[in-house]
Amino acid sequence: MRRALLDWYDGNARDLPWRRTRDPFAVWVAEVMLQQTRVETVIPYYARFLARFPDVFALADARLDDVLASWSGLGYYRRARLLHAGAMHVRDVHGGVVPSDPIAIREIPGVGAYTAGAIASQAFGANEPIVDGNVARFVSRLCAIDVDVKKGEGLARVWRISAALVASVERPGALNNALMEIGATVCVPREPRCLLCPVRAHCAARARGRETELPIATKKAKRPTVEEIAAVLRIEGDDRVLLARCAKDGLFAGLWEPPRVATKDAKRARVELSSSLGVDVDLAPKPKRSIEHALTHRRLRIEVHEGVLSRAPKKATNGEGRYDAWELVDLATLDARGVATLGRRMLGLSRRGRPRPPG
Ligand code: SF4
Repeated sequence: MRRALLDWYDGNARDLPWRRTRDPFAVWVAEVMLQQTRVETVIPYYARFLARFPDVFALADARLDDVLASWSGLGYYRRARLLHAGAMHVRDVHGGVVPSDPIAIREIPGVGAYTAGAIASQAFGANEPIVDGNVARFVSRLCAIDVDVKKGEGLARVWRISAALVASVERPGALNNALMEIGATVCVPREPRCLLCPVRAHCAARARGRETELPIATKKAKRPTVEEIAAVLRIEGDDRVLLARCAKDGLFAGLWEPPRVATKDAKRARVELSSSLGVDVDLAPKPKRSIEHALTHRRLRIEVHEGVLSRAPKKATNGEGRYDAWELVDLATLDARGVATLGRRMLGLSRRGRPRPPG
């Protein structure tokens, strides 16, 4: 079966930029970017990021603001912060050389079992497994696993089976890639393409006619909706917009955005903003736009109001609360700082910073 998987992979693998390298730093960057993000989205970001930060030292020595700016639009910014912290660890502990020992790889901040397996197998040829959503789905069908493979015992079983598959194989990186690739392109979620599958003769789900029933999914809890008001604030006669930097413990830590307040009452938002900025804020009573944004555990419904500041607020806050700095920003310079897609939407800009068409 492993031979069949490798032969199939050799004949069908997509030519992806991170598959052309064995540089552990480049493999690491690619694997972090690929978490929860589609291949097509990652490709341009990967090229730009490596051009800007070609090695561990370049990334470790960079300011977090610059790293977040290069990540802008890719989402899940925690990954960028951890990648930056991980690069500093490799610089300080390993002299800038990504270690080849799987245990030392796991000790890098932000590197979990998946990324460690990818670096160890693809850069160093170690017989270490990788399990992502594609591998979990493929293995759950191949072995007809009757429990949820996204968590608990089901997930542990997938890791054990993947470890057994990759053990003692000559090309562990290629075998891991084959498992991910077959999950991504053949053993796909809704209608698996079993007739194209190189291991259909070994597949327990197919033998039992259960290929569309598996994997078993436990129902997800409904995400609560949080209502907020965001304020796009300017000083009269000044085109710059006030942006706030999210404090370092939050979900958007280090990223800039129009300030938000957890209320749906515009009057209350005005009072809270005036108090936290230390200047008078006049907020339009009606929102300019409404935005819905899904996060992992909740949905945000944000009403964006425009408003006027009586004068510029102080540059930094006292370090408490949601934001740790404020700045009036020329929107033409937005690409130089980390601004999430959500922040751009609040400003009425598309992901790349162009004004959205009306409506
Ligand atoms: Fe998936 Fe079908 Fe292949 Fe089984 S035979 S592993 S269900 S694509």
